[in-house]
Order: sequence, then C-alpha cells, then structure tokens
Amino acid sequence: MSGKVYLVGAGPGDAELLTVKALKLLGRARVVLHDALVSAEVLALAGPDAVRINVGKRCGRKLLTQDEINALLISSAKSHQVVVRLKGGDPSIFGRAGEEIAALREAGVAFEIVPGITAAASAAAAVGISLTDRRIASQVLFTSIHRGATNRSIQWGGISSETTVVIYMPGPDYAYVAAQLREAGWPEHTPCAIVSNATSSKQQIRTTKLTRLANEGALPSPALMIIGRVVTGETIQAAREFWINRAPRDGADHDAAI
Ligand code: SAH
Repeated sequence: MSGKVYLVGAGPGDAELLTVKALKLLGRARVVLHDALVSAEVLALAGPDAVRINVGKRCGRKLLTQDEINALLISSAKSHQVVVRLKGGDPSIFGRAGEEIAALREAGVAFEIVPGITAAASAAAAVGISLTDRRIASQVLFTSIHRGATNRSIQWGGISSETTVVIYMPGPDYAYVAAQLREAGWPEHTPCAIVSNATSSKQQIRTTKLTRLANEGALPSPALMIIGRVVTGETIQAAREFWINRAPRDGADHDAAI
C-alpha cells in the first residue's frame, strides 16, 4: 500500500479557524504527526482511532530530528492511506515544509499541501488592523529574528515606512529586536504590536513604540510582533471594541496597555 501525506495547516489555535478540508482530513487520518504548537482543541478533532504523534519540541527540546520526522512520514505512508502532518498556522510559513516535501518527493510518496491561517493573519485580525492598509502601507514582510547567524539576518533593503514588518519568533529579548530595528533606521515613534497566543483564550495584545520596546516585559510564547504604521491608536481602539463585542471567550485577556 502507498498512502498520501497531507501537509496540513492547523491555523493559529482556534479550531473554528481550521479549513473544512483540514477538518475532513483529520477525520480520515489514521496517523497524525503534529508540532507542539498545534492546539489540543484542534487535535481533538482527529478520529478516535487516529494515532497522534507529537514530533515537535517539548520544553525547548526537540523530540525528533528533521531527518527522523521525514523518515516517519515516509514509513507511515507505506502502511496508511491518509497521513496528516499537522503544522501550526500555514505549513509553508516558517514551518520546515520545504525539507519534508523534498524528502517525500525523493521517496516517491504522494503529498498535498493544505494551507492554513498563518499567525500574522490571525494576529492582525486580533489587533483589528489591515496589514496592507492601502492608505499607509504598500507591502508586508514576514520575517524572523536570527540571532548570531550573520548570513540569515533580515534583509532591510527595499523596506520603507510603507512596509509592515511581521516578526515571527521574536524571542523574549525585545531589546535585541529593538536594536535591530534601530540599526535598520526605523524611527523611534514606529508603532509595534506584540500579540501572544492569537485567537486562543490566552490571547494577549500589547501595543508600544520602538522607543519603549526594549523595556517591555516579554509576553508568553507563541508571540509575534507587527511593526509599522498600520498599528495605530485608532485601530487599537477598534480592536478593543471588536473583542468586547465578540461572543465571550473566557479568560481572554486584553492587556491593559492597549
Ligand atoms: N507555520 C506557523 C509559524 C511557525 S513558526 C504559521 O504559519 O503561523 C512559530 C512562530 O509563529 C511562533 O514563535 C510565533 O512567532 C508565531 N505564532 C504561531 N502561532 C501563534 C499565535 N497563536 N499567536 C502569535 N504568534 C504565533
């Protein structure tokens, strides 16, 4: 038997933000290999007989190497018709899908990518802003902060005051992020939003400016930063109203700093 591997985006946490396709596949899968980021709420949607394997990190330690994950995907497809590789957000955004696709291709295993809602989109929705608001922004950059890897630092060329920058995996050292932004010439008054656990009941949003960023206490992981003029006072007020008027989400915490 030779099954198919579905690289499925689990979205940012709220199970209602899964695609219908992802939901159907979860119901059919016999094996679900998932990252640590995938919420328990989403995992609960897999069938009762499905074997769920956490291949992500636990307490910062990797459970399996990328090669081991690739091998497990290939061997699972040999004995199961539907194998779901479930990744937080969208599989193609900072999700190591590239390595897995290459390994599946090389092994001759059929695969399909099912996109999901990436964290940047869910964080923007939570804050109540448009990442490409055409009145003030013309482009958006999804990036991440690489510490100490000189050849992988953010490529700031082409970034203007009309760019919205979304920083995935900013880490807890906001002073380092602030230093990177300053070095790239961002003005001190540049607005920043830090969004933690977007769309989950533990969601927190904090807005600040580059000038204060270094002194902000870190929000819990997973968190990302949205930097740029689309993060304005007006939109923050709108976000607050959006969440107040939304169906109750117990425990949802809107940071007092908003
Ligand atoms: N493939 C994922 C990203 C994986 S990298 C996606 O498309 O969203 C992991 C990083 O994504 C985290 O460190 C954090 O920066 C961000 N992230 C994931 N889920 C998030 C959430 N619910 N709220 C805020 N940031 C999140």
